[in-house]
Amino acid sequence: MKLKGPFGLGPKKDKRVYWSSPLEDKCQTCSLPFGDTMYDMKTVHGPWANMCHSCAMHGHGIGKVGLGFGQKYEKQPDGKWLKTEG
Ligand SMILES: [Zn+2]
Repeated sequence: MKLKGPFGLGPKKDKRVYWSSPLEDKCQTCSLPFGDTMYDMKTVHGPWANMCHSCAMHGHGIGKVGLGFGQKYEKQPDGKWLKTEG
């Protein structure tokens, strides 16, 4: 049987993704506050961590955003972390 019809061609929905797990408002590797940007990124040691920009790009983080590497989140006025890259 052949599948027909438009799949996934409907109107583009707003697919905003927010960080949904409990999160301390500080970097897991340097313990400083994230500020407005947070990365959920693989570290050079293997495990993933929530890191500030500095650690993600120049510290323990692998410095890459993308599937399997890391995601970038930006803090919104309502306090939620919106995924903006990765
Ligand atoms: Zn840090």
